[in-house]
Amino acid sequence: MNKFSLLLLTALLFAACGNKSPQPIRLQGETQGTYYSIAYYDAQQRNLQPQIDSLLHDFDLTANLWVDSSLIRRVNRNEDTLVSEMFCDILRKSLQINRYTHGAFNCKIGTLVNLYGFGFKNREDISDRQIDSILSFIHQDSTVLSPTPQTGIYALRKLPQIEYDFNAIAQGYTSDLIAQLFDRLGLESYLIDVGGEVIAKGRKPNGDSWTVGIERPAETKYSQKEIETAILLNDRSVVTSGNYRKYYEEDGVRYSHTIDPSTGRPVSHSLLSVSVVSRQSWYADAMATSFMVMGLEKSLQFIAEHPEDEDIQAVFFIYDDHGEYKTHATPKFKEIIKEIPTATP
Ligand code: AMP
Ligand code: MG
Repeated sequence: MNKFSLLLLTALLFAACGNKSPQPIRLQGETQGTYYSIAYYDAQQRNLQPQIDSLLHDFDLTANLWVDSSLIRRVNRNEDTLVSEMFCDILRKSLQINRYTHGAFNCKIGTLVNLYGFGFKNREDISDRQIDSILSFIHQDSTVLSPTPQTGIYALRKLPQIEYDFNAIAQGYTSDLIAQLFDRLGLESYLIDVGGEVIAKGRKPNGDSWTVGIERPAETKYSQKEIETAILLNDRSVVTSGNYRKYYEEDGVRYSHTIDPSTGRPVSHSLLSVSVVSRQSWYADAMATSFMVMGLEKSLQFIAEHPEDEDIQAVFFIYDDHGEYKTHATPKFKEIIKEIPTATP
């Protein structure tokens, strides 16, 4: 969160433009330190802004680390041990991906994220001893969630030193929340983009698929955004994680906001960004972050070892050993690409 990263640009590139075709309702705004942009077709022409505002508000109160009174901040300060259904759901999903990725994804790294200055605090000097001590707590902790007699409330047990950080799935999760609202209301065609985490349902009334642009990794956080490629998205989400919008530089070395939980340090490999296509946005978001931790080779190995998982179609953007920019797409991802002008096999 708080990353005005725009890793994915929702390109309504090929939006129907004739006067006769129905026009989508468009809603835009800001949330979690970034933008959201939504388009939907609705025969009843309903304005769903109030319902969306209410969902975004609920999410902020639950999991936004920049809201001092949010549940996650209170849990991290050990002020609260009773958590809501939504908190429990996000935490369970995070723990599930932690197991699935053998630790590459870890929502318990909040203290490290803050010390490196990627959270809501300024960067501090951090010693090897401090990192080791934080890692030892992370590895010792076994978070336990148990139901209480009160419906939708769970008792949470964790080590007091543990601070959760849900930012690696927050925007994807939010896209899913809005999609679930739209599904409940019977909408059959929509595009939701929360800070670049995009979910598309159905087709436009003229039969066209939704088209989404994927940003080419920029050289620096100040660079102009450029579309690398366009993909066709039907009933799928696409999420990008990258190291080129949120990082700091020290002695010419770039330190990315993705932390490798095995070392406690920001990752430093040649993977610039990865876009993942899944049915659910939170999943694509979690896996994109996990792949940024693993790097290209381990990610490809992981994908090869999980042929049953149709929710990890991906395109990787890297600098090769000669410093040349390359892309690498998995076969299923290639099927939905509309064009990759500069792709290499
Ligand atoms: P994303 O942009 O979705 O890849 O999320 C990056 C954010 O997730 C960072 O700014 C941190 O707040 C958090 N994060 C960093 N490293 C990890 C990790 N290994 N596992 C889970 N969350 C992480
Ligand atoms: Mg993510």
